[in-house]
Amino acid sequence: MGVKMLKKGLSFLDGKNEETSSDFFESQNPSNLTDIIAVFGSATKPQVEKACQRAKEAFKVWKKTPAPIRASIIQNLGKLLEKNKEALSKIVTREMGKPIREARGDVQEAIDTCNFFVSEGRRLYGMTVPSEMPNKELYTYRRPIGVFACITAGNFPVAVPSWYFVPALVAGNTCVWKPSHDTPLTSYYFAQLLYKAGLPEGVFNVVFGKGENSTGAWLIEMVGKGLIDKFGFTGSTAVGQKIGETCGRHLQNPCLELGGKNPLVVMEDADLDLAVNGALWAGFGTAGQRCTSLGNLILHESIQEPFLKQLLQKVSEIKIGDPFDESITYGPMISETFLKNHLRNLETLIEPHHKLLTEPNGQVTGKKKWKNFVGDADRGVYPFPTIVANVKPSDKIYSTETFGPLFNVMTCKNIDEAIALANNTGFGLSSAIYTNTPKIIYQWKEEISAGMTSINNSTTGAEAHLPFGGNGKSGNGSRQSGVWVLDQFTKWQAVNWDLSGKLQLAQMDTGYVEPDLQYTI
Ligand code: NAD
Repeated sequence: MGVKMLKKGLSFLDGKNEETSSDFFESQNPSNLTDIIAVFGSATKPQVEKACQRAKEAFKVWKKTPAPIRASIIQNLGKLLEKNKEALSKIVTREMGKPIREARGDVQEAIDTCNFFVSEGRRLYGMTVPSEMPNKELYTYRRPIGVFACITAGNFPVAVPSWYFVPALVAGNTCVWKPSHDTPLTSYYFAQLLYKAGLPEGVFNVVFGKGENSTGAWLIEMVGKGLIDKFGFTGSTAVGQKIGETCGRHLQNPCLELGGKNPLVVMEDADLDLAVNGALWAGFGTAGQRCTSLGNLILHESIQEPFLKQLLQKVSEIKIGDPFDESITYGPMISETFLKNHLRNLETLIEPHHKLLTEPNGQVTGKKKWKNFVGDADRGVYPFPTIVANVKPSDKIYSTETFGPLFNVMTCKNIDEAIALANNTGFGLSSAIYTNTPKIIYQWKEEISAGMTSINNSTTGAEAHLPFGGNGKSGNGSRQSGVWVLDQFTKWQAVNWDLSGKLQLAQMDTGYVEPDLQYTI
């Protein structure tokens, strides 16, 4: 595996089959726009349908393959990812611009996910349940659902897809994956590792392409054709809503992992050094392009001044630039489109009453410099860090995901106000609080509406065995990772086995003992 590889025209892949398309799209290195990494074709509607048909056919055999054998292929995948970790991380960095140490973390999360689910293949436990009648046994089984289709975003091009198809495959489903159009080459190599791991033909299929009026939209259409049994989507709330509507019409319950406007609260008793570092990482790690990135920093009014002084000092010292440099805080945006969206947000969301705590803002260039820039800013799409103060709950910027290195500052008088500001954006993905008071922590844990919360840690960071997901505009309550995700990829079957040799009726032929209600003490 090398980083110089250029794949041209590939549109659909199931291990052996590589069909070409006439509708091409490029993958461009965001830290060097002249570096076109790959040219892929968008899979056509018939190709998407063919991929789903293959998955449907392969399901007949895959579901009967013993779960420990299915999981052994995932074990192979984990080993292959370990062996190729550095090479794949370099492709991630070159293709979507996250710093190389974060790219290694992205790949490591997929390895951890494989390691966790290998042994789940030896569990997938059901239960034996006592019956209310004699000579009768009750059982529950986890059964695979069928063809699982997923569409993923480009900000975690290895970890997030692995959260879907590693457990989906172990549980006996077959897959069709439409990876992000921002990271086709990373996805191509990831898929190659899955085939190398030993997956039988048709079990895992990749359709490359764009979203709207393209491959992504056609994959969603396949739900209506009865070719998909379960959908998973990681991306923007707007697209997630469309998928939710389609799946709902067909009585399916998709796994929707969407956007966030994540709050980070700093109370008066917090360790300020710790909280400043947490806010810095939550706000500017991955150039703010994580679903769990900081959206609203909520400061107790008594510590606002010293906190902001310390934060702004640290912000002024961060290194931006070449994502292959080990010491940078962040590199370029994922692509030119993401930079344009960031610049548009600066224009449309910042209002006259807001105060920008950082200068300058917009795009870093050779002329409009960042003091600690590493590399050549004119070659890529680099944004300045932006912090916006005087934000009110009625402002659009308070409740709009900005998906760039931009966050708001708000103040609170007490924990009740902090929780209200944290909960009222409509999103509910991640959250964080810095405090050392157990009573405040207890109230926060009980009342925060986000699916995930950190205490004395930043809003970002996931582990392969802890549930990941959000509420409200952040998702439909589905959870990925750990044992919890198995409920997404299996359906419960209830079995009762009557050995009595006669028709026994539940509730009617039972030997319940009637109490003597005449007795009083
Ligand atoms: P996006 O919704 O534009 O694209 C995501 C994927 O959907 C891509 O593969 C894209 O090609 C496809 N797509 C886009 N429009 C489509 C359409 N009309 N029909 C079918 N497919 C379509 O999102 P993005 O801008 O690439 O990614 C950033 C978003 O993803 C942010 O909102 C971020 O918070 C979210 N995200 C969420 C999680 C999570 O786990 N909750 C993780 C990562 C990213």
